[in-house]
Amino acid sequence: MGRGTDTPASWSLGDGQPVPWEYAPAPEARDIVSLKSRYGMFIGGKEVAPRSGEWFTTLDPATEEPLAEVARAGVEDVAHAVGVARRAFRREWGALAGRERAKYLFRIARILQERSREFAVLESLDGGKPIKESRDVDVPLAAAHFWYYAGWADKLEYAFPARNPQPLGVAAQVIPWNFPLLMLAWKIAPALAAGNTVVLKPASSTPLSALLFADVCRQAELPPGVVNIVTGPGEIGLALVKHPDVDKVAFTGSTVVGKTIGRAIAGSDKALTLELGGKAANIVFDDAPIEQAIEGVVNGIFFNQGEVCCAGSRLFVQESIAEPFIERLKDRLSTLRVGDPLDKNTDVGAINNAAQLAKIEELVEAGQAEGADMYQPACELPARGYFVRPTLFTNVAQSSRIAQEEIFGPVLSVLTFRTPAEAIEKANNTPYGLSAGVWTEKGSRILSMVSKLRAGVVWANTFNRFDPTSPFGGYKESGFGREGGLHGLLAYLDLAGEGH
Ligand code: NDP
Repeated sequence: MGRGTDTPASWSLGDGQPVPWEYAPAPEARDIVSLKSRYGMFIGGKEVAPRSGEWFTTLDPATEEPLAEVARAGVEDVAHAVGVARRAFRREWGALAGRERAKYLFRIARILQERSREFAVLESLDGGKPIKESRDVDVPLAAAHFWYYAGWADKLEYAFPARNPQPLGVAAQVIPWNFPLLMLAWKIAPALAAGNTVVLKPASSTPLSALLFADVCRQAELPPGVVNIVTGPGEIGLALVKHPDVDKVAFTGSTVVGKTIGRAIAGSDKALTLELGGKAANIVFDDAPIEQAIEGVVNGIFFNQGEVCCAGSRLFVQESIAEPFIERLKDRLSTLRVGDPLDKNTDVGAINNAAQLAKIEELVEAGQAEGADMYQPACELPARGYFVRPTLFTNVAQSSRIAQEEIFGPVLSVLTFRTPAEAIEKANNTPYGLSAGVWTEKGSRILSMVSKLRAGVVWANTFNRFDPTSPFGGYKESGFGREGGLHGLLAYLDLAGEGH
C-alpha cells in the first residue's frame, strides 16, 4: 500500500492514533462527467436562459473550486415554468393512458442505470458525498423509484379500487441538498406516474444532477413541459409553491422553511406534503448483537456525513453495556477515512456547504460548553474544503442543544437508559418524529418498542434502509405525508372527487 502525499492519514489502530500507513488513493475518474461552464433552466423541454439575466456559481465543497454557473430564476421564470407545466398537463400528460406514461418512466429508469457512473460522479462533485454512497445508494435507489412507480402508472384503478383516481395537476417540488438526485426521484416518479406535471427547484448548492436529469428527460423523449426545472435561491422556491396555478406542493428540507411554506399556502386549496428534520434515537439493548449494532450506529450517523434527516444522531445505550460499547464505538470511529469524496475508500466526505459547516462547528462548540465529553479520532483533514472530524459526545444531558437540535452533521450524542420504559420516554423527548432504531435479540421487545416510539419509520437491527415500496415520512415537527410505496402515490392523486 502506498501513501499518497496529499491524502490525509485517516486510519488508526483503534487507540485514536493514526497508523503509519494509509490506503493508496483510489480516485474515481471524473472525466465521465463533462461539465458545461453554464447551465440554463429546463423549461418546456428546452434549456432556457433566465429572464432575469442573472447566474450563480455552484462549488465543489471538497475543494471550494467553482464547478459551473447556473441560472438564477426570477419570478417571471417561475411563472413561465408553471404555465408550461399547466399546458403540458392539459394538452397531453394528464389525459395520457397510464400504460403510455409507464413507458416514459421505464425509459427514464433505464437511462439512469445506463448513466449511473456519470450521475454518481456528478453527485459527489457537487454535493461532497463519498462516491461509494452516490454509486451504491443514491443513484440505484433513484432508478429504483422510477422502476417502481412505472409499474403503478397503469394500475391506479387497482391500487385504489372504485375511487376513480385522478391526477391533481401541476406539482411544485422543492428539494434539499443532501440527496439531490434521490429526492428528485422521490418527488418526480410518483407525480408523473399519477399523471401530474412538475416544476422542481433543486437546492442552490446542488443543482447539477437535476440539470443532468433534464438531459435524461430529453433522451427519454418525455413530452416537453411534463418535467421543468428552475434553479435559484429559496425565495424562488417560495414563489413557486405560492403560484396560484400550482395544485400540489411537495417539500423536503428544514422545519423552519417547511413552516414558512405551510403558512404561505394556508387557505389555498393546494395539497401539501412536508418532509422535514429529525433527531432520531438509535436504541441499543444489552442483548443486541454488538458488532452489528456498532456498524448500524456508525452507518446511522456517519452515512452522508450525518446530513440525513433520519440520521441516528442520538444513541441510547443500555447502562449495563454502555462503557464497553462506547469504547468499541470509539475504536470504530478511528478507522473511518475522511477526505476526498471521489476516492472509493472514503467513508466521510465533505460537508455540503460553508453555512452547514459553520452550523455543525457551532453545535460542536455548544456541546463542549454545555459540559459533554467530546471524542474525535486523530485524523488529518484535507487543507481545503468543508471537512469536519467524526465526533462523539458522551455525558450528554437530555436538555442540551446537541441532544435536542438537528445538527445535520457527523456528530453523535450518546445517552444511556436502564429500562425499556426509560428508553421510550427519552427517545420520544424531542419535537421531531421521523425515524428510530432498535437493537435487541428479542422479537417481542422490538414489537413493543415500535408501537411506542413516536417515529414514522422504525428500523429493527438495521438502520437507514430504504426501498421504493416502503413509505417514509414523519410525525410532529418532522412533517406530514408519506413518500414511497402506495402512500407516496396517494399524495399525487384525487380520489373519487374527494379533493385534497
Ligand atoms: P432549507 O430548508 O433552507 O432548503 C431546502 C430547500 O428549500 C432548498 O431548495 C432551498 O433553496 C429551499 N428554500 C429555502 N428557503 C425557502 C423558502 N422560504 N421557501 C421555499 N423554499 C425555500 O435547508 P438549508 O439548506 O438552509 O439547511 C438548513 C438546515 O435544514 C440544515 O442544517 C438541516 O438541519 C436542515 N435540512 C434538513 C433536510 C431534510 O432532509 N430534512 C435537508 C436539508 C436541510 P436554496 O438551496 O436555494 O436555499
